Amino acid sequence: MDTTSARPLDGRTALVTGAASGIGRACAEAFAEAGARVYVVDLAAAPAREVADRIGGVAHVADLADPEAVEALPHDADIVVNNAGLQHVAPVHEFPLDRFTQIQRVMVEAPFRILRRTLPHMYAQDWGRVVNISSVHGLRASAFKSAYVTAKHALEGLSKTVALEGAPYGVTSNCINPGYVRTPLVERQIADQALAHGIREDEVVEQIMLDRTAVKRLIEPEEVAQLAVWLCCAHASYITGASLPVDGGWTAR
Ligand code: NAD
Repeated sequence: MDTTSARPLDGRTALVTGAASGIGRACAEAFAEAGARVYVVDLAAAPAREVADRIGGVAHVADLADPEAVEALPHDADIVVNNAGLQHVAPVHEFPLDRFTQIQRVMVEAPFRILRRTLPHMYAQDWGRVVNISSVHGLRASAFKSAYVTAKHALEGLSKTVALEGAPYGVTSNCINPGYVRTPLVERQIADQALAHGIREDEVVEQIMLDRTAVKRLIEPEEVAQLAVWLCCAHASYITGASLPVDGGWTAR
């Protein structure tokens, strides 16, 4: 693969989950721009089709909490970006059980099932890339986010295990660990966090979201997507089992 090319991923196929919005949509766009054919996987049918049509990809409408829907996804991806995720903010003793289970299904079990199905294709061609969109919450905890923090820590473990198993087959597996990214998921959280912490919404961004970062701004989805593409180019073949913070210095503390 020619990394100096404007389309370093020509001929590759990338499966991106949660690709209808936020970071996933930015990844789908960036991978298409880098030359990859993109499977746009999302629960939201109309936005998934809109993204797929725009970038010349293929939409796969699937609820990743449903194992049967996950098993029906394509298995011939050269690149997998496990990105779909959701948040629920509540203290552990009040956390709804069904919400906890749903979050583990979408953010842990679905990535496992997708990799279980796609790794044989990558192994057969001695090349593959797995990019797991984890979070600072894969490395650090925050109060009231037990299901999310649990799921992201589990994804870190899955990513490292795949790195060890995939290395002999030219497959790398890494996590990207963003701080707060300007997406609908974060916009929804601002109201929830205000309620949980008993503060005003405008105080949430300043006092909670940007409190621990040295760089006092939210990250843009495109910044995360560019790192995902970079991890899939030839120069990154020795980077595996890593967790790469894009967190404005949050984890430097
Ligand atoms: P988003 O809400 O903008 O997009 C998430 C996408 O996932 C949506 O299109 C949604 O339809 C899809 N999705 C949710 N549940 C699904 C399901 N059951 N089946 C199929 N698709 C489903 O969120 P985002 O902020 O872009 O987050 C994407 C990923 O990045 C998540 O894993 C999130 O944890 C992670 N992340 C986000 C931030 C942030 O600040 N936004 C920070 C760190 C990590």
